Amino acid sequence: MKLDHPAHAAPADAAARKAIAPVICYPVEGLPRPDLAPYLAAREGWTLVSEALVPAREARCFSVPAGHFFRILSVEGPQVGDLNLWAASDLRERFYSGKTRALHGTHLSTGDRMWSSFPTLRPMATITDDTLDWYGFDAFGGSVHDVIGTRCDPYTHNLLSDGGQYHHCCHSNLTRALADHTGLSLAEAEPHVHDVLNVFMCTGFTRDAGQYFMKASPVRPGDHLEFFAEIDLIGGLSACPGGDCSSEHSSDMAACHPLLVQVFRPVAPPAGWVMPAVNGYDGSHGR
Ligand SMILES: [Zn+2]
Repeated sequence: MKLDHPAHAAPADAAARKAIAPVICYPVEGLPRPDLAPYLAAREGWTLVSEALVPAREARCFSVPAGHFFRILSVEGPQVGDLNLWAASDLRERFYSGKTRALHGTHLSTGDRMWSSFPTLRPMATITDDTLDWYGFDAFGGSVHDVIGTRCDPYTHNLLSDGGQYHHCCHSNLTRALADHTGLSLAEAEPHVHDVLNVFMCTGFTRDAGQYFMKASPVRPGDHLEFFAEIDLIGGLSACPGGDCSSEHSSDMAACHPLLVQVFRPVAPPAGWVMPAVNGYDGSHGR
């Protein structure tokens, strides 16, 4: 938050400094955009191989082999989901929300990738369909599927609620789900939970103060976000206790609904597709 009354006077050339045009940090021309046509063609004749229903205010983990697709679907009513991804072979390789934001912007849609952490930094999944792509940005600067929020968690809730204890924040839901899926203890699983892709959530920053805001998600039953697994994945999805995020998190007050995950096996992988190699940096850091 910036001060209402700054402690330092503006310099004489303040207007000129503020008038400098921004430069895009990571121009998209520098990032190879996936050719979506082979991905979309590979969906023809695919087979539904598994489903997981994520109950309201709970999370579930699911496995997606490399070369398969998965969909997150709205069912019953408007609901947002907090998505974590891990490499099935090594939980230390996990979705890197901050770098994905730097590469693709604050909100993801079709053609964007979910990138993994250092030192692998490679695409874990490619978004191949988004039924909310019509939303774009609204008049408040809001949009859907953000990589700016973190995940609702019991620690922040405790800070902001004078010691409150709430156990169905997405962070705790994902911790329990990962423990159940892997056999790890809760204490072992918790450090693997990470910043999420906020599926279906509608968010932005206020224009005047830059505060993170949320508003009722435009998602309706039947909407989906679809991904192609570039590597063997474990996904974790929490049906956030915020419901459609029109009011509050971290309580059982909001109306909540389940989310459905479907995994599909294509007849053949997309033409020309190869599993992304780990990042090419040599790791020497100059020594
Ligand atoms: Zn949440």
